[in-house]
Amino acid sequence: MAKQYLSVRNLKFLLHEVFKTEELTKHPRYEHIDKEAIDMIVDSALQIGDNIAHPVAAEMDRKPADFRDGKVYVHPQVKKYISAMAEAGLIGSSASLEVGGSQLPEIVTTAQGFIMGAANNGITTFTGLTAGAAGLIASFGSQELRDKYLEKMYGGQWQGTMCLTEPQAGSSLHYITSSATPTNEGYYKIRGQKIYISAGDHDQTENVIHLYLAKIDGAPAGTRGISLFVVPQKREENGQLVDNDVTTIGIYHKMGQKGTPAIHLQTGAKNDNCRGWLVGEPHKGLTYMFQMMNEARLGVGLTGASIASAAYYEALEYANERPQGQTLSIKGQDPNAPQTLIINHPDVKRMLLFQKAVVEGSLSLIMQCALYGDLAHTTEGEDKERYELLLDMLTPVAKTYPTEMGIQSVSSSLQCFGGGGFCEDFPLEKLYRDIRITTIYEGTTGIQSLALLGRNVTMKNGKAAMAYFQEVSKTIAEAKTYDPLKKYAETLETEMQRLQNVTQHLVGFAMKGEVERFLSDATLYMEMFGISAIAWQWLRQGIIAHQALLTKNPQGDELSFYESKIHTMKFFFAYEIPKTQGLATRLLDAEVLTVGVEKAVFV
Ligand SMILES: Cc1cc2nc3c(=O)[nH]c(=O)nc-3n(C[C@H](O)[C@H](O)[C@H](O)COP(=O)(O)OP(=O)(O)OC[C@H]3O[C@@H](n4cnc5c(N)ncnc54)[C@H](O)[C@@H]3O)c2cc1C
Repeated sequence: MAKQYLSVRNLKFLLHEVFKTEELTKHPRYEHIDKEAIDMIVDSALQIGDNIAHPVAAEMDRKPADFRDGKVYVHPQVKKYISAMAEAGLIGSSASLEVGGSQLPEIVTTAQGFIMGAANNGITTFTGLTAGAAGLIASFGSQELRDKYLEKMYGGQWQGTMCLTEPQAGSSLHYITSSATPTNEGYYKIRGQKIYISAGDHDQTENVIHLYLAKIDGAPAGTRGISLFVVPQKREENGQLVDNDVTTIGIYHKMGQKGTPAIHLQTGAKNDNCRGWLVGEPHKGLTYMFQMMNEARLGVGLTGASIASAAYYEALEYANERPQGQTLSIKGQDPNAPQTLIINHPDVKRMLLFQKAVVEGSLSLIMQCALYGDLAHTTEGEDKERYELLLDMLTPVAKTYPTEMGIQSVSSSLQCFGGGGFCEDFPLEKLYRDIRITTIYEGTTGIQSLALLGRNVTMKNGKAAMAYFQEVSKTIAEAKTYDPLKKYAETLETEMQRLQNVTQHLVGFAMKGEVERFLSDATLYMEMFGISAIAWQWLRQGIIAHQALLTKNPQGDELSFYESKIHTMKFFFAYEIPKTQGLATRLLDAEVLTVGVEKAVFV
């Protein structure tokens, strides 16, 4: 690797040792791949990361996407990146072979997404959105739509987008007003405005295909009246691409991810001739879009973890090179003693361990979710339902922990650089700006927290929550069979009990109809839930590392790797888990300071 932005050893540890990905290849869906193929995919993603994506990460920030004379220009390397991803079969990596994809397990797609995100987080948006948009056409579109769009999208010639947000409809898509008027020609006339559309227009693909939410004239009010359309920027007529009345009226000047344009679009504004084609059935658009949104939520969690990874390795390198001060033990004893490296200061070690714990814990949770998705694809009946529930249950957590804590992690990386962290001479200020969006798009932390507590915890009479608690219990039981891990297993057991007590307390308000009280501190509940979920992942990793130390007689780097896993697990349990006590105190407190508080308090 030209410049370290992730640990390949850790990625392979998670893929092969913790999640045993190759077991999936026994299923007919994945029988076309094996362990070597998985490693080759990781290697080819690393090649693209090292040679194409990472070298232009800083330049894409300094020369942002530009809107001139009605056209949007992005860095020319974007085309090279999209082509390389298409050639490696990585745009459609988890799409089925039948629609032109590579039909890889989601967990493998997650591994390659992590590599790309750590190499250059902005550039991954282009291919990630195309994959998601094409996935919607593949899952719900007619054969005609599939034939028309998928080859070009998976082939990298056409860009895909998700077009949801409007000026008056951000977190609440209920208020979408874009309209779709049926015609006798098989298409709908689309009119409306969409804002913040990532990769919604640029000069590095021939066409942009918007997966667009709108309401058919006369549709029911609210989300039940939303339909999904394919709205190409240029439509095909007589074998030619012609203008489809989709206009870019501006781009946003963003704080980070500056190389990826976010577009303000108007449809049907020039000559009322913007044509859209219905995907699936009328009024089911939001249900369909949830497929892309859920994938994108995990994708944004992954972006958080991958940016934090890039920042961690920058901080680690710097801490190993920067001499400053003397160690606490010799301080003042010898004025002529040389300065020590900052990595020798306990506070810097603490910051680095925190970053490592967040990065590797977050990645593990996201890969766990991806694996649940794969298991749902490869099982039937009750098992399938169980994996789907587990994935649903954990998706908001896997979006939120890696992004909220990722921001704190990158802030710690920046702190390791001292003043340099605040300056453009080092990449930290860029990574800090880049990661800030991740708690906002794809549903803010507030909205994810409402989904976790308000929907998922009580979903199917608590069946999803029960399935989750059982999964954690299995890990606890296994950890208890190893003496050195017993203490951590018992700590997690206490944590899960604390979480269940808090959950029952809060659900009690819902049962009394006090909905606002039930959900008022949902974000704090999410924080508590997230910490215990990551502790679960660290215990899982601790078990595998402990087993390896017992049975593999590892030496050298391998020994250090497994010992470092155990040490970081201990760090997470010692430094992060205690935070839940404060959160639980607040969540169980009878005093209410937000619900019903008058605006006058905000003087
Ligand atoms: C760089 C960028 C790229 C984007 N890319 C896309 C894209 O490709 N496609 C797309 O469709 N959209 C995109 N978006 C839009 C993004 O998804 C929205 O910005 C996001 O959903 C929040 O909506 P909003 O900005 O209107 O904020 P609002 O919905 O107005 O929220 C403002 C604040 O109020 C809180 N809030 C709102 N409602 C509630 C509630 N019911 N309960 C509690 N708190 C609440 C929120 O948590 C937030 O803190 C992008 C945005 C940006 C900035």
